[in-house]
Amino acid sequence: MASNTVKTRNVSEAEARAVAEASRQSEWTSPSFIRELFLGRFRLDLIHPFPLPEQERPEFTAFYSQLKDFLLREVDSVEIDETGEYPQHVLDGLRRMGAFGMKIPKEYGGLGFSQVEYARAMQLLGSVDGNLTALLSAHQSIGVPQPLKLFGSRELKDKYLPRCAVGEISAFALTEHDVGSDPARMSTTAQLTEDGDSYILNGVKLWCTNGTLAQLLVVMAMDPDLGKISAFVVEAEWEGVTIERRCRFMGLKALANAVIRFDNVRVPAANLIGKRGKGLKIALTTLNDGRLSIPNASVGMAKRCLEICRDWSRDRVQWGKPIGKHEAIAHKICDMATVTFAMESIANLATEMSNRGGYDIRLEAAAAKEWNTSRGWELIDDAMQIRSGRGYETESSLQARGEQPIGVERMMRDFRINRIFEGSNEIMHLFMAREAVDKHLQVAGDLINPRKSLGKKLSAFPRMAAFYAWWYPSLWLRWGRWPRYSEFGRFARHLRFVQRSCRKLARQVFHGMLIHQARLERKQLFLFRLVDIANELFAMATSVTRAQALVRSKHPDAAHAARLADLFCRNSRRKVKRLFRDLWRNDDASKYKLASGVLRGDQDWMMEGILPLEELLEIRAASQVLHQPGEAKKKEEPVPVG
Ligand SMILES: Cc1cc2nc3c(=O)[nH]c(=O)nc-3n(C[C@H](O)[C@H](O)[C@H](O)COP(=O)(O)OP(=O)(O)OC[C@H]3O[C@@H](n4cnc5c(N)ncnc54)[C@H](O)[C@@H]3O)c2cc1C
Repeated sequence: MASNTVKTRNVSEAEARAVAEASRQSEWTSPSFIRELFLGRFRLDLIHPFPLPEQERPEFTAFYSQLKDFLLREVDSVEIDETGEYPQHVLDGLRRMGAFGMKIPKEYGGLGFSQVEYARAMQLLGSVDGNLTALLSAHQSIGVPQPLKLFGSRELKDKYLPRCAVGEISAFALTEHDVGSDPARMSTTAQLTEDGDSYILNGVKLWCTNGTLAQLLVVMAMDPDLGKISAFVVEAEWEGVTIERRCRFMGLKALANAVIRFDNVRVPAANLIGKRGKGLKIALTTLNDGRLSIPNASVGMAKRCLEICRDWSRDRVQWGKPIGKHEAIAHKICDMATVTFAMESIANLATEMSNRGGYDIRLEAAAAKEWNTSRGWELIDDAMQIRSGRGYETESSLQARGEQPIGVERMMRDFRINRIFEGSNEIMHLFMAREAVDKHLQVAGDLINPRKSLGKKLSAFPRMAAFYAWWYPSLWLRWGRWPRYSEFGRFARHLRFVQRSCRKLARQVFHGMLIHQARLERKQLFLFRLVDIANELFAMATSVTRAQALVRSKHPDAAHAARLADLFCRNSRRKVKRLFRDLWRNDDASKYKLASGVLRGDQDWMMEGILPLEELLEIRAASQVLHQPGEAKKKEEPVPVG
């Protein structure tokens, strides 16, 4: 039987990369707009005509208006934030309307909504309450329903999906003390019993969202016989499962987030999701679609900020005029509007692609997550600056002084985590960068790999000749400047820019390979800039095609949309040019060197004048001044399940 103690696995960088590589989905069977961009091919046909919202289905309209009404009348987000709890009547209300089963097929008792419908609900939630967004998103995007829908056996689906649909809450348990972005160090184990009947689960999982409320868990654990990770459905009330602690955060104060311990938990072998040893691949594939919750909810947040700033910049008068008429604030408002338009264009397109099928959206979903949360964070910072003192003040305090309770500070606290969880934005960059160089690794990987034999290296030449002989010269053909895309009117020049830039992007990927060779995987800043360029081009192309679709459909606000897309692209072009320049003219090496010096302690002289952290922590540990009275002794009780 597996041991009870949890040990940290020591894993080298190469081993960590190998685990990531093994769980990577290597095949590309359906087209991907961004993958094509990296290869210098601007596949406008994949994103044009842009899919505009279709006629709503009556059952979705009914749910949506019920949810809207519920959020308006039954949910007090300030109370949720201040008490740090989900009120029972809110959980019950969400259950009654079927919100926990939005994406679960009807045959299992769910609402059977499409990705697009689910995304609309997420946008609505994201505009009011981060805590509820996280509760529902963790349950349906990474919790039990989604991996079961994609990989679960018929038996598992029949057993658990109906329970999830009626509101048994689920959580996803991957992270551990030593496993953040790097799953190779996983120490939770799932040992198959000799009779093959069950797995014995041991380990401790950290930061499981919904953990204190959940009846069902998806748990990732290392199978010691295979040295690979498997995924299981585990019931929270099984013997040996303990909610050790509830974690508390800067924002998302009500998040029912837990440290969960598994002590010799017997998991029936039938509760394995998908194949043995394929857990990580299952998690990553689940996240391809699951990751779309965050960019859609981010759009809701961005629209709310824009609305708040529109009103405040119009009403607040300083220095003789509304603050929105001062150029510095006007520019922020303009950026907020154009970026919100682009964020929505990206989220809508990626969601629609996922909904329709026939596309491989893993890069588009990662781009949507990265771009919308990074831009969303800048946008909320602008909203804070525009609301200024009132942005920093809490809703309760504002209300007590007789002002409108507008919670920019709450939104800011709640939003920040989006750049960290469901794959941090650095990991999104790395994930996309890996795919950017994928074709080159297939063609020329053996040549630049120092571990390959001379024979292998030589055998790469015919492959390279066959691919590069046409591909590389074609990237220099300058028909990107020809007057193409004239049917797009004022947007044509932006599309030509995207086309030119994607050829340049592909050339830079190739040049990076030639110059840095095997070292390229360590040139993160170079790779990150390539990804940022691709994401920016994706944002430009989707904004333009969406604006064009609105013009074509004679949407009443088409002219406004056109202005937003145009200005967004003008700004974006400058950003792309800067990123291209910085690829080769930068201080990357010097900065890395200086940072290494900081880690070595070379710059410790700068810490003069502050309280030394080490001493501070020692004294605090001794006196436990960090703890609230009573909290040091008492573990927080899990919230009772309603
Ligand atoms: C509120 C909250 C809710 C969460 N919910 C869940 C949940 O439901 N289930 C779950 O399993 N986990 C959950 N997590 C964990 C979350 O997914 C992790 O925090 C996240 O994966 C990052 O891991 P880490 O914090 O350990 O950072 P680390 O992995 O230690 O990384 C630290 C920093 O280094 C960067 N970094 C790491 N590796 C590299 C690299 N190779 N190259 C460049 N940069 C790198 C990271 O991007 C990050 O900026 C939650 C966390 C929080 C705070």
